[in-house]
Amino acid sequence: MKKCTKYRNLITGGAGFLGSHLTDRLMEAGEEVICLDNYFTGRKENIIQWIGHPSFELIRHDVTQPIQIEVDRIWHLACPASPVHYQFNPIKTAKTSFLGTFNMLGLARRVGARILLASTSEVYGDPEIHPQPESYRGSVNTIGTRSCYDEGKRIAETLCFDYQRMHGTEIRVMRIFNTYGPRMLPNDGRVISNFIVQALLGESLTIYGNGQQTRSFCYVDDLIDGMIRLMDGNHAGPINIGNPGEFTILELAELVRNRINPKLEFIKKPLPDDDPMQRKPLIALAQQELGWSPKIPLEEGLEKTIKWFKKAIK
Ligand code: NAD
Ligand code: UDP
Repeated sequence: MKKCTKYRNLITGGAGFLGSHLTDRLMEAGEEVICLDNYFTGRKENIIQWIGHPSFELIRHDVTQPIQIEVDRIWHLACPASPVHYQFNPIKTAKTSFLGTFNMLGLARRVGARILLASTSEVYGDPEIHPQPESYRGSVNTIGTRSCYDEGKRIAETLCFDYQRMHGTEIRVMRIFNTYGPRMLPNDGRVISNFIVQALLGESLTIYGNGQQTRSFCYVDDLIDGMIRLMDGNHAGPINIGNPGEFTILELAELVRNRINPKLEFIKKPLPDDDPMQRKPLIALAQQELGWSPKIPLEEGLEKTIKWFKKAIK
């Protein structure tokens, strides 16, 4: 690790939703950032504010191909996160998860960088234990439509720990639970962006299944705070980072509708295959090891997100 105040940070997927918020935070802290992206779901608009800054570089590259670059820290976020996008080309998603993580771990090993993997609560699959602690090994379908992502992230975690055991690579593994906020793509397909965009356009809100399935939603600023604490700290993980507030999808739809237009209707659509019925993180480890807990309740995060989407879809 380079001994100076500024780190050279590589953020894969840096033009995406989470990657661009991380870019903002590191740039604002005076760090150097190399943002690497293939623009599958990322956008230059998300990081345009930094183009031309002497501490910022932008590279169009696909993580399934190796790259030679000198860095101190690798934040490995590259991978589509929305079911609609990761199922668009599931073989590519599996390649991105495996080869992408393999290439980034190889780079980390070669240059002695610390690497953080953006893993996911999807490693728990459709969980039989609720809420989910990091020790839970999950209930994942190996052959379903979500498997490219779920199993992709599971093998990515495995690779991290094998690099740690075999080569002493400094790894940090973060299990991210559903996160939302400004810069989600309007056509992203994830539930919060769907509901907000539908409500702003005066359309009915699409409820998949009976709407009784639950999720726990973390506002992006809280999530990035947890990510930075994990990278800076001494715990390799895996560590759950998410907001333990649990809501049914119907409750979420009510919250969004009431804020935008209470007259809107709900329409039922089929529940996608293998859609987890419940999800809520246990965050005791993050509290203990990172001194982290989320601060922004869903109502407040929704206000900020709705405000942003009002401008974004004008
Ligand atoms: P996103 O789709 O907005 O960002 C992913 C970024 O990676 C995009 O900029 C995309 O263009 C880029 N990318 C995809 N494949 C690539 C490839 N092969 N090479 C280079 N770049 C590539 O998604 P996000 O919500 O910002 O998620 C970021 C990371 O966090 C992902 O790894 C995701 O699995 C993980 N995660 C996110 C959530 C969430 O709720 N947002 C939950 C769990 C895990
Ligand atoms: N969902 C929904 N309507 C939508 C989009 C999603 O009811 O328009 C449901 C989806 O079936 C799932 C939950 O909301 O039960 C969260 O979906 P999302 O795609 O945001 O995330 P994930 O399923 O990966 O947690």
